Amino acid sequence: MEFYYHAKQSAFWNPIPLSLKNAETYKKYSSILEINILKYITLRRIANAAKVVSSFIASITLRKPIVWGMPISYSVEPTNHCNLQCPECPSGLGALTRPLGLLKLEDFKSFVDQIKHDGFYVQLYFQGEPYINKNLPGMIEYAQKNNIYISVSTNGLLVSEKNIDNILESAPDKLIFSIDGLDEETYQNYRVGGTFKDADSGLKLLLKRKKELKKKKPFVELQFIVMKQNEHQIDDVLKYGEDAGVDKVVLKTMQVSSYENALHFLPSNKKYRRYIVEDGKIRIKNKLRNHCFALWRTSVITWDGKVVPCCFDKDANYELGKLSSLSFKEIWTSEGYTDFRKGVLDNRTGLSMCTNCTEGLKINILQIEN
Ligand code: SF4
Repeated sequence: MEFYYHAKQSAFWNPIPLSLKNAETYKKYSSILEINILKYITLRRIANAAKVVSSFIASITLRKPIVWGMPISYSVEPTNHCNLQCPECPSGLGALTRPLGLLKLEDFKSFVDQIKHDGFYVQLYFQGEPYINKNLPGMIEYAQKNNIYISVSTNGLLVSEKNIDNILESAPDKLIFSIDGLDEETYQNYRVGGTFKDADSGLKLLLKRKKELKKKKPFVELQFIVMKQNEHQIDDVLKYGEDAGVDKVVLKTMQVSSYENALHFLPSNKKYRRYIVEDGKIRIKNKLRNHCFALWRTSVITWDGKVVPCCFDKDANYELGKLSSLSFKEIWTSEGYTDFRKGVLDNRTGLSMCTNCTEGLKINILQIEN
């Protein structure tokens, strides 16, 4: 089992060491390779990845956007409906101004057909609870048939005796299970509308049935957002994960959108924060450089086919095109996308969304060490 402290939805991160008193206990777990990368390698995908990296380097050197490759990874939103009302989530709070809905299986298949040659990793989540969409198993199966690695992030509250075998039959390669408290008080502090009892039994049912059916998938990652109300449970969550039998525990820094929520939620231990909080304001700890690799390596698709630059654009305020009228490649290489990249290269802090973002920073990950 491995333990990391990192930012939301970042597949590329650099761990910062964090010492915890129980860390020694977990060293007995051997490191589990999360992705069998060899399975997904094709010459075309390697060539594409090389183009992505080299064009990004050329862009930051010449200070103008040059794009030679297609995204390596994507986030696709099965739905923006949610069964919880988490205080920092616009989806659960009903604060999204964009319509609510469910991604159609046919639309997902058409998208996969467009990106499968160059891309190899799809996160089937963005806003909302993915398992609300009954077509999720069909999407997972279709993407896996096309040799695409799939991860799903869930609050786990829809996992039940009734559907567990179906979930495992069409299991994603990785299933992220979010539990942010180990008792009702800490859990319900943030996961409003859910209970620790249900989340805990969902996780344990999944792990038990996976073992009984001798399934290799999914790789199960337990995620825990560190807040003032649960920071005393960091050591305990490692033990909880070990006892439950998950493959990995990840401790996440919390993203907040206001000074008031920062005061309410951010941990007392400043090492677990991504922000400096002072003078009635919040700001990301590190200097924000005028570039963003996310705009070269990944892209985000909402349930109704809007392409947005990254997972920080929760309400699709920076829509760059719609898959109902253009191909993904047309949108990716469009003037609008190029202008957006240029805006970040010129002045990242000029875009308010980009000032509350950890892309390219090393403040967001803590790897537990002895
Ligand atoms: S918020 Fe801005 S800097 Fe951050 S990942 Fe999105 S586009 Fe890049």
